[in-house]
Amino acid sequence: MSKTIIISNRLPVQLQISNGNINAIPSVGGLATGMKSVHSGGDSLWIGWSGLTDEEIPKELAPKIDKALAEHGSSKVNLKEEEVNGFYFGFSNRTIWPLFHYFLEYAEFELDSWLTYKSVNQKFADAIIEKAGEEDTIWIHDYQLMLVPKMVRERRPNLSIGFFLHIPFPSYEIFRTLPWREEVLEGLLGSDLIGFHTYDYERHFLSSVRRLLGAEVSFNDIYVDNRIVKVDSFPMGIDYEKFSEAAKTHQQNTEDQQSDLQRRLDLHKKSSPDAKLILSIDRLDYSKGIAKRLHAFKYFLDKYPEYKEKIRLIILAVPSRSNVPQYQLLKKEIDELVGRINGELSTVSWTPIWYFYRSLPFENLIDLYTSSDIAWLTPIRDGMNLVAKEYIATRTDKTGVLILSEMAGSANEMNESLLINPNNFEQIADTLFKAINMPLEEQKRRNAILQTRLERYNVEKWANDFMTSLQGQKDRDTANVSKRLTETLLKGVLQDYQKAKKKLFFIDYDGTLAGFKIDPQKASPDKELYDLLDQLSEKEGNDIYLISGRDKETFARWFLPKKYNMIVEHGVWISEQGEEFRMLENVKKDWMEKIYPVLESFVDRTPGSFIEEKNYSLAWHYRNTDPDFGANRATELNTVLTSLIGNDDISVLNGNKVMEIKSSNVNKGRAAMRVRAQKDYDFIFAIGDDWTDEFMFQELPEEAVTVKVGMQNTQAKYYIESVSGVRGMLKKFIK
Ligand code: UDP
Repeated sequence: MSKTIIISNRLPVQLQISNGNINAIPSVGGLATGMKSVHSGGDSLWIGWSGLTDEEIPKELAPKIDKALAEHGSSKVNLKEEEVNGFYFGFSNRTIWPLFHYFLEYAEFELDSWLTYKSVNQKFADAIIEKAGEEDTIWIHDYQLMLVPKMVRERRPNLSIGFFLHIPFPSYEIFRTLPWREEVLEGLLGSDLIGFHTYDYERHFLSSVRRLLGAEVSFNDIYVDNRIVKVDSFPMGIDYEKFSEAAKTHQQNTEDQQSDLQRRLDLHKKSSPDAKLILSIDRLDYSKGIAKRLHAFKYFLDKYPEYKEKIRLIILAVPSRSNVPQYQLLKKEIDELVGRINGELSTVSWTPIWYFYRSLPFENLIDLYTSSDIAWLTPIRDGMNLVAKEYIATRTDKTGVLILSEMAGSANEMNESLLINPNNFEQIADTLFKAINMPLEEQKRRNAILQTRLERYNVEKWANDFMTSLQGQKDRDTANVSKRLTETLLKGVLQDYQKAKKKLFFIDYDGTLAGFKIDPQKASPDKELYDLLDQLSEKEGNDIYLISGRDKETFARWFLPKKYNMIVEHGVWISEQGEEFRMLENVKKDWMEKIYPVLESFVDRTPGSFIEEKNYSLAWHYRNTDPDFGANRATELNTVLTSLIGNDDISVLNGNKVMEIKSSNVNKGRAAMRVRAQKDYDFIFAIGDDWTDEFMFQELPEEAVTVKVGMQNTQAKYYIESVSGVRGMLKKFIK
């Protein structure tokens, strides 16, 4: 039976060793809860680090640990202290974390920690390779393991591999500062599906892939080698029911069932019934903007002094990565800031800030969520921010106000909260004012919408959506495989070819027989290609037509007086048996004067693009431009041209990084059909790579063998991956 393998840096179990005994306690964190539906029963395995280094595990206990983990469906990757330092505290937390959260000034680029990151990623990949069966599905989590997908793919090409990034993916301008940027992208592209929390992260990733790797991207598909990698956004939810149920139970607690914290909170409420509690909960991390929030709090009290003694801020800062120096400095800064504000503003009966530096158990979190009138979460940058969702889920009577930074991923789904820019103190102060004074009706109206959304798109749905999409990729692959011109299918085609008497070939040039060059004139035929075409056309019964959008002068220079037949400019000109070109189609060209200046204006404004003037068409090439910019300009040009052409009999073809404007009655399909009518052919073969070739694939009869080069959508019967594959295949027709 196939299984799912989940891989994350940490296993979802905590190990405790006491007196030679092992205790494995399941974690309750976001990911562990989220994966519950995936990681259940005997058909899944979770691979990760146990949290204990090799040095911390007594040798004799190792087998016991493995057994204890196996009982929780887990298997550990062994890491030495030095590896944890380089891989986790080093590259993951001192390079990727700050960089991906836009803290460029904190990002350290150390070769040693990068090398450790690579070798530890290899360890994780090896563990997967060892445990995975042929049909298994692999789900890799987060920024610590970005190289693993490729490492697994190289050794196990047929596995279905998904990757989810739990932190933001930064804009290209930030990402490109990473010295190992290409390797990181290539690592991720080993996946079949890459998931992000938001569409923004997805689009940043796609932009980096296009710019840094030059890969072809179509909507959210990336074409890599002979595979399609899908990229999509899946905003992670919470276990809604767990939080709302806990809040309901909490409400019914009798006084002696209440926690100390709850009693203190209640006391505060009793002593000053109009006073409002404002809650802020974060890991102590610079991305969370805690220090800024404290400054903003002071700013608010200066601007609205009437709220002194009327509000209280509870700050829960959860210790995190405390052996990274940046975090130690931050802790010091926050400690001092809290001290200073409290020192300055406190009165005999009022301390403005209650500050906790610790991790609280679940029940205490519920105490805080349910007792606070306002949740104030203002990260400077945050992949998602689950606390925001948890707060809303616990508000069973629908009261409470959420103030949320628009820089948090969750802001995308929580439009009904009060969204703020964490750097705008004026706006924050006014928003706090608004929150404190928000009528109950409005609070309820906003929260009702939020709750419905969060309840529906909970963490289980998130995990299932991702798995369904990954399965979809697998099915799509299978569908594609059936279209791939495999050895066996080709054998059948060759048999039909051998049996036939009159055989017709239409072969496109650029992107089919020759690869693309930045300067199209440089893509001239080489000796191997001449030999191939010579032999192919000398075979008895073969009529070979090169069919191209190129101009006749170039083809005449390259191929005449060879006896191949040629159709150029999409079907305007034809040359047969080595004769000069003659016109195949009568076309108008008076429109060219009108269009040329338009194209010129686009060349002026799009560095790297140029116009190719053919006899009966104009082509605007943008292969050498910035990929996003070029694509945008192409869309713009398309709109301009469409409005200009009106009813004129001309059309715009979108080719591979080229837009061609030509008369409508000329296309490769029409030309191919005219040639086909000349004889009674009993074998027809057509091959091409772009949109202009689709006309041939559509027009040719059902029994024709039509082949697309590349894996984009096509009307062709088969596809083949690359130019080198095309030549190898055509050689088989000579034997
Ligand atoms: N949390 C916790 N104990 C605490 C404070 C917070 O377990 O004392 C949990 C909280 O319930 C939430 C998670 O920590 O599920 C924080 O997730 P979030 O996405 O807000 O931030 P992250 O720490 O992942 O950056």
